[in-house]
Amino acid sequence: MNNYNVGLYIRLSKEDEKNGESESITNQKSLLLRYVKENNYNFYDYYIDDGYSGTNFDRPGFKRMLKDIELGKINMVITKDMSRLGRDYIETGKYIEKYFPANNIRYIALTDNVDTYLDGANNDLAPFKAIMNDYYAKDISKKIKTALRAKQQDGKWVGGCPPLGYMIDPKDKNHLIINKEESYIINLIFDLALKGNTIYQIKEYLNNKKIKTSTMIRGSRGKSNLASLGIWNTKTISNILKNRIYTGDLVQNKRNKVNYKIKKIIYNKEADWIVVPNTHEAIISKDKFIEANKIIKKTSRSKNHDKRLLDGLLYCFECKHKISICKPRGEKTYLVCNNYRMNSKNHVCSSHAFNYDNMELEIIKIIKNELEKVNINYKKDNQKELKKIEYEIIKKKNYLDKMYLDKLDNNIDTEMYERINKSLNLEIKDLENNILKLKNIDKDNLITRDLIIRLIDKIEIHQDKTIDIYFNFCNHQE
Ligand SMILES: [Zn+2]
Repeated sequence: MNNYNVGLYIRLSKEDEKNGESESITNQKSLLLRYVKENNYNFYDYYIDDGYSGTNFDRPGFKRMLKDIELGKINMVITKDMSRLGRDYIETGKYIEKYFPANNIRYIALTDNVDTYLDGANNDLAPFKAIMNDYYAKDISKKIKTALRAKQQDGKWVGGCPPLGYMIDPKDKNHLIINKEESYIINLIFDLALKGNTIYQIKEYLNNKKIKTSTMIRGSRGKSNLASLGIWNTKTISNILKNRIYTGDLVQNKRNKVNYKIKKIIYNKEADWIVVPNTHEAIISKDKFIEANKIIKKTSRSKNHDKRLLDGLLYCFECKHKISICKPRGEKTYLVCNNYRMNSKNHVCSSHAFNYDNMELEIIKIIKNELEKVNINYKKDNQKELKKIEYEIIKKKNYLDKMYLDKLDNNIDTEMYERINKSLNLEIKDLENNILKLKNIDKDNLITRDLIIRLIDKIEIHQDKTIDIYFNFCNHQE
């Protein structure tokens, strides 16, 4: 009669944990094992699912138990109560009423007095119990949702693991503080974006510099993916750049579970997000955030990674579509209106096919003129610095002349004259080098892609080659 090989199934979900010790793994284990010993059954194995909700049966311990059932290793399953088996009425019922009998498994739910072997009255209660468990799960998931929503509206962090750059405040689990060991990565990503790098280029940079991914820093949960090897992808970077949490605002309720039985996540519309401004310290200022996102939008207009100076900025004046930069092999780079190119048969627009390099020169000339008028600060500073250095050089040269006269008059000896002469000449040379450097900054580095991306919103090109440049700044001096 007692020839039973017993599998003890144990489950603990996160919600159960809040209900205290009675449901703990150790408690379930000792309760079940005591029962097995008292009845002289053969204990075969524990099947444990720690941290798994009872609303679906996709649990590793449970699956392993089914395997052992099918291999004939066990013919009896015991749980503390029915809800340990599952909280979904239909599924739980399926196991108790169909699967276990079909596989000659005796099932016991200890504290619910359910035993499929005994023909007791309690077994008639089994379906009813299952319905109650199902109801309980539904109710709990609704309660949790409502409580979460309320906390989100209060600007409290309820999202679990905070995003890279932040950590939970040890003094308040619903408050975020900056994680100094991570926040530099966030700053780096935003700085790279502000310099006009595409998301792809930022990804390459982070990977080349071996900057650790979030998964690498915090440890992966058994997943072996690229991020756990420290490899960044563009999606992660794009999500970071778009995440307002870095400006100190909490944005929650971005996604929801469909219902408590299914794990599927749906993404909410932006209108349903719960946004509470300034709930925690910002890593990125709001201005910087907006600026970086504007720039990223521009740089991602074109997929070409080897960017020409004006890539992504050119538009057709006549039809407002983008203008592409094309470089057929062995030929000169030229422009073409995308609308015209795609629909040339329909005569929707004209070609706008101009030589790109000439157009670029023309546009740089206009930009330079415009900058001249605005008198960008650093250029002014350069001029001041230049004047200072030039004055310094004149002073030293005068000194040299004077010293030469002193030597002629025998006021200083030759050895001293040569020593001072040598060191003064070296100093002058240094200063002259500085002047060269400053002048080169003025000449070459003035119009870079960085600068263009920051300065210009878009450039429209007319079929008659007229150029309209939309600057991001206002020229108040005009
Ligand atoms: Zn056009």
